[in-house]
Amino acid sequence: MKVLRTVRELTEAMNDARSKGLTIGLVPTMGALHQGHVSLMKRARIDNDVVVASVFVNPTQFNNPEDLRTYPRTEEADCEKMEAIGVDYAFIPSVEEVYPEPDTRVFDLGPVAEVMEGAMRPGHFNGVAQVVSKLFRMVNPHRAYFGEKDFQQIAVIRRMVELEGFDLEIVPCPILREEDGLAMSSRNVRLTPEQRAIAPAIHRALSESVAIAGEKSVEELKDFVVKTIDANPQMRTEYYEIVDGKTMQPIRDWKESECPVGCVTVYCGDVRLIDNIKY
Ligand code: AMP
Repeated sequence: MKVLRTVRELTEAMNDARSKGLTIGLVPTMGALHQGHVSLMKRARIDNDVVVASVFVNPTQFNNPEDLRTYPRTEEADCEKMEAIGVDYAFIPSVEEVYPEPDTRVFDLGPVAEVMEGAMRPGHFNGVAQVVSKLFRMVNPHRAYFGEKDFQQIAVIRRMVELEGFDLEIVPCPILREEDGLAMSSRNVRLTPEQRAIAPAIHRALSESVAIAGEKSVEELKDFVVKTIDANPQMRTEYYEIVDGKTMQPIRDWKESECPVGCVTVYCGDVRLIDNIKY
């Protein structure tokens, strides 16, 4: 595996691969890699001749400076994991390399970016669109891999791809969970042992809600999930929305969507956890 730190090295390697007719798969990450990231890279390894994984904690998508400051950074361990999977290129740039000047672009992301994470974290999705569009331009991949853990993010990236006219395939990958059901996340290491022990209640509440969905209205189910999660000390649901899996717009009646998805954000202490489930 080659570690690349400059855009110049990256574009050279990618142009070389393209000129040989090789297919390129890109996995963007912010590092502190876990098995969820690993699953994306393994999938990219199967589908493509060349695999590029980026590790970059993108400042423009953090609306909370404390979250950016405390975001875990584990470059050495990340490189070992990527090497073991057979990643060809790890792109690990500095902030100055990605943003030689401030990125002032404002993307017209539309309704998919206005609800849930878009409403709670102003500017977050615009920052995601900024960095991912830069990566797409640098790498020019045939395919790019994203986890369904960040379900709304995939819809936002599809919208950005449409706006920018990128010719590539977005490959959504399933959520990887710990054995007790907690969705894997780089932020999980910030949970205290006590918080870590109660955090699986999030997925448990979502799974139970799927089991009883047939007998309940959308509103009743939303109440059930929020009450079940908030019954745990130290947990506070920020939102639970049941949305159409394509448009991300909240539904009021099951008839409104063929692919409803329940999306939740929970504060466990001061750690913000997100998860979702398909109905
Ligand atoms: P992050 O480093 O958190 O920005 O995540 C990088 C990519 O990994 C994103 O596409 C995430 O959706 C994906 N990802 C993060 N956690 C998981 C997980 N538990 N299962 C599957 N994909 C994940």
